[in-house]
Amino acid sequence: MPKGQIIKVLAGFYYVDTGEKVVSCRARGKFRNRGQKPLVGDFCTFQEEKDGSGYILTLEKRYNQLERPPICNVDQALLVFSIAQPDFDQMLLDQFLAMVEYEKIKPIIIITKIDLNRELIPVIKKKYNAYDLYFVSSKENEGIEEIKPILKNRVTVVTGQSGVGKSSLLNALNIELNIETNEISQALGRGKHTTRHVELIPMYGGYIADTPGFSSLELKMDPVELAVTYHDFRELSHHCKFRGCLHDSEPHCAVKEAVEAGEIDETRYVDYLQLLKQVKERKDKRYG
Ligand code: GDP
Ligand code: ZN
Repeated sequence: MPKGQIIKVLAGFYYVDTGEKVVSCRARGKFRNRGQKPLVGDFCTFQEEKDGSGYILTLEKRYNQLERPPICNVDQALLVFSIAQPDFDQMLLDQFLAMVEYEKIKPIIIITKIDLNRELIPVIKKKYNAYDLYFVSSKENEGIEEIKPILKNRVTVVTGQSGVGKSSLLNALNIELNIETNEISQALGRGKHTTRHVELIPMYGGYIADTPGFSSLELKMDPVELAVTYHDFRELSHHCKFRGCLHDSEPHCAVKEAVEAGEIDETRYVDYLQLLKQVKERKDKRYG
């Protein structure tokens, strides 16, 4: 049976990429009835008809799923942040890291516009050395080649505030997308919610989603789930006295000790405590 990945949904047709060709398929009613509507990103099997079209037969289990944009099986997210213009926003990055990690998507931090302030490079490097981190300047064509191999054979979403240089970066990578770059700033300002069409565009042997991911900044996780999204805290937490330590006011906390010893960046820890507070308040609202 032919297999492939759904890369586009349009007017009742699911476009399935088999690696050799793209087949436009219909889905039988049973998928919709069971609340199992095929999504962009789904791996499926299909039956080929004589006219070259197809019928989707089965869907593979999804390893993750985003609501907006509606897409599943996303491998990684490029979190695009500028070093200046706008200023590097550490709190927002920490928020994105937690969300991405929670959705089981690998975060890749891309710091853009490094030509504007090179002195900050080592500072950011030190803070985020537990993460995949790249520094680029689309203007000076620096660091661009290093990005290409990480896109290979992966489904990637791009995210970041308006003006950080997403379009310039994609241009430098020769990826032609019509990414609507102001969506995130709109979501930040007014919480405007629109369901958007999404399509996976083939590039460098992988795919890139043509719509920015994570336009809402709500942290949906519980406090313990937040704590484990932090790469640098996660390994240390085995040495905390309490299992499920939130690294807040618990005694004998390995994370707090690492902060005091300067091994974990203090500003990141302070950001974490603030996110933890948000997450706790949200939880209290739900159950309280
Ligand atoms: P987007 O909204 O995230 O897609 O950002 P754009 O790619 O449209 O870039 C926003 C502004 O930043 C534009 O004026 C770009 O010329 C400028 N810009 C983008 N990349 C760089 C860079 O590497 N260095 C400098 N100095 N400016 C850049
Ligand atoms: Zn702890």
